[in-house]
Amino acid sequence: MMQFDGKSVYKGIALGPVLVLKNHDTQVRRKKTEDAEAEIKKVEAAGQEARKQLQKLYDKALREVGESNAAIFEVHQMMLEDEDYLESIHNMIRTEMVNASYAVAVTGDNFAEMFAGMDDDYMKARAADVRDISNRLIRILEGEGDADLSSMAPSVIVADDLSPSETVQMDKEKILGFVTVHGSTNSHTAILARMMNIPALIGVPLDLEEIHTGMTAAVDGFAGTVTFEPDGELCAQIRSRMDEELEKRRLLEGLKGKENVTSDGRHIELYANIGNVGDVGYALENDAGGIGLFRSEFLYLGREDFPTEEEQFQAYRQVAQTMAGKKVIIRTLDIGADKQVDYFQLGKEENPAMGYRAIRICLSQPDIFKTQLRALLRATMYGNIAVMYPMITSVEEVNRIFAIVKEVQEELDEIGIPYRQPDQGIMIETPAAVMISDELAQLVDFFSIGTNDLTQYTLAIDRQNARLDEFYDPHHKAILRMIKMVADNAHKYGKWAGICGELGADLELTGEFVRMGIDELSVAPSMILRVRKAVREL
Ligand code: PEP
Ligand code: MG
Repeated sequence: MMQFDGKSVYKGIALGPVLVLKNHDTQVRRKKTEDAEAEIKKVEAAGQEARKQLQKLYDKALREVGESNAAIFEVHQMMLEDEDYLESIHNMIRTEMVNASYAVAVTGDNFAEMFAGMDDDYMKARAADVRDISNRLIRILEGEGDADLSSMAPSVIVADDLSPSETVQMDKEKILGFVTVHGSTNSHTAILARMMNIPALIGVPLDLEEIHTGMTAAVDGFAGTVTFEPDGELCAQIRSRMDEELEKRRLLEGLKGKENVTSDGRHIELYANIGNVGDVGYALENDAGGIGLFRSEFLYLGREDFPTEEEQFQAYRQVAQTMAGKKVIIRTLDIGADKQVDYFQLGKEENPAMGYRAIRICLSQPDIFKTQLRALLRATMYGNIAVMYPMITSVEEVNRIFAIVKEVQEELDEIGIPYRQPDQGIMIETPAAVMISDELAQLVDFFSIGTNDLTQYTLAIDRQNARLDEFYDPHHKAILRMIKMVADNAHKYGKWAGICGELGADLELTGEFVRMGIDELSVAPSMILRVRKAVREL
């Protein structure tokens, strides 16, 4: 047995086989070789294996998602045979006498950069493909097999770190738990783990060379421990605790259909945070009164090009229809900071959290924004949609947004496409927005307080920096006073104020939020019934 401690981001328990995902950007080591030709042969054999894997993926995709979506795997097969790419790998092995994996990694990076620098959009998007095929070759060379996550068996994922786009591509039904060496409790990967109800530990000091796919892992999100190769006694204990958890869950189920009301009759809305269409099921299963935060940027992650207006419209329509008249608050694109997407070409920034992100991108690239707004407005015909704008700092920004929304509405009027006027609200997640919330309240229909970013910007603590977790105090008086101030200013102008940051689900604060007059809490679906229980016990 090997036991490690970590920070728990979702309190749950899991037991099952390990799947190690390695981050090749940092894991591939340069090694000297005496036999360059042997390394080149390895590359050739890995190429053949990669083509086989891709053929299988092509066949699967063809059956499941049709020819046009499967075509990408054909493109990858062709790229694997590209003479320039292969020659570059071979030359590097021969001239520098290095190992095959290293030559593939460096060549992959060089080619990806070359593509990314091209003018043509199609060629630019090929950068991600080159990275993909290079990573596939490296996995094979390192004996890790095919990391096709769509066909994996239910597993505990062990990784150095996971990006939101990697996480979002995984089949949630197959993930028993996450264990990562890095990551912070407020990262979007941690948020996703909570949203998916998945036991997750971060900051676990593992040597990934010692942990192998196929080992067994027991994750205890309550104690913050993971044990590899647990003995029979521990397995039995873990299984019985899993049964207890199920029992608690069953008791919470009894709260379905009940009101979110305190014993003295104060009511609060409990909505769900979701990241994609598939999460609506979790929201309904947990009796959400609505969707308080649909992080629409997840539609943009894990893909190679912008989602079209039609794709977005279908997603928003489906969520609105599935929620059947319950409120669905869709937040416009909040890309940037830790949510990086190659095709946005955002470039490297010194301080990405304080950089070019969210509404700043939308206001300076209005074409991207307008595509999303058109999709959102069209979807208003299918349910109770409200729109929310992230990272607001000023009245001017809101006025500029409204001018763009008006333009889009006029364009739709011109071509006779129907829409309803949605409620429009803003995220309060910068100290600036808090301080002028009296002015902002006069402009918008509602406020939703993003405590994750508000805490980051108020306490000057990068939410991605795990070293600062001990200083990240979301219960800080400054934050609580800000929340009160925002609620008061909203009410002064007859508007409502909710919380959609992770703090909304903090059961120690439920009473305080109700006393402050917070009107709505939007939380991970798995937390709705727990918060309802806390409200009803007040
Ligand atoms: C927040 O900042 O609290 C929030 C809800 O937005 P996100 O976590 O997506 O930045
Ligand atoms: Mg935020």
